Amino acid sequence: LRQILPLLAVLSAGMATLILRARLSPSSELKRAIINREIVAHYQPIVELATGRCIGAEALARWRRPNGDLVRPDAFIPLAEDTGLIQPITDMIVDLIIVELGDLLRRTPRMHVALNLSAADINTGRILTVLERKLAGTGIAPQQIWLEATESSLLDLEGTHRTLAEARRRGHWTAIDDFGTGYSGLQYLQRLPIDALKIDKSFIDSVGTEASTRHVTEHIIAMAQALKLDVIAEGVESELQVAYLRERQVAFAQGWLFSRAVPAAELIAFCNRTERA
Ligand code: C2E
Ligand code: CA
Ligand code: CA
Ligand code: CA
Repeated sequence: LRQILPLLAVLSAGMATLILRARLSPSSELKRAIINREIVAHYQPIVELATGRCIGAEALARWRRPNGDLVRPDAFIPLAEDTGLIQPITDMIVDLIIVELGDLLRRTPRMHVALNLSAADINTGRILTVLERKLAGTGIAPQQIWLEATESSLLDLEGTHRTLAEARRRGHWTAIDDFGTGYSGLQYLQRLPIDALKIDKSFIDSVGTEASTRHVTEHIIAMAQALKLDVIAEGVESELQVAYLRERQVAFAQGWLFSRAVPAAELIAFCNRTERA
């Protein structure tokens, strides 16, 4: 027995590592998180610059671990995109929007929620079927769901074009997210069936500085307006930036100056406050 014991110890240690590895594999952990409904949504208000009123919010995914930690999307969305888990996550965010913001949206028809879409959602167009099925009978209009597609997800031009065009036919609003960080030029934009451009935070950061990106920001706003697209500025942190954007007739903004992404109850309180102000 004394000869077998060390061998047993080594064997069981090996087994333990194997089991642990299997349990800790990031994608299976994420899959478990989805099944256990650990993916939650926070909402960042979107403000109409002319009035200061809340006109909606962007839904942003968070992973709330059983130990209470809140994992930021940058740490799990890329993994979800690589492993096909992004589709159940998107679906879950749609469910959360309906449950958590249904009352607000029914009560205030001009209010919207923006949903982030990944390439897998857009290229196949499956998101439109999902939305149609989930919104049916909720009293939430398709007009109240805005769809955000990042420039990098537009690689499949034909698929994107088809889905965005169909989305608009169904009444959804479509926006290009993180605009300016990709490669799309004027000609490309001109042909895309979109309603709005969201200017990436990096360009808003340059406002009030001498950085050369400031001229790019200027150019992006002018380009959007030439194309008759609405503009949403993201990552707004200062009054100086607000003044700059107002001066250039930028319609909408979101950022920490107004509010961080917050749980549904806080979003509703924020919107009620700006309504009365
Ligand atoms: P994004 O769509 O560009 O989202 C904006 C990010 O900037 C959010 O971070 C938001 O909290 C942060 N932000 C907003 N205002 C400010 C500001 O004034 N200052 C600073 N420093 N940051 C600000 P978050 O929530 O970590 O999201 C990161 C990215 O993860 C998002 O970028 C989006 O691309 C992606 N993402 C989040 N939720 C989802 C989702 O449900 N589905 C998909 N496909 N992607 C998602
Ligand atoms: Ca977004
Ligand atoms: Ca963005
Ligand atoms: Ca961004």
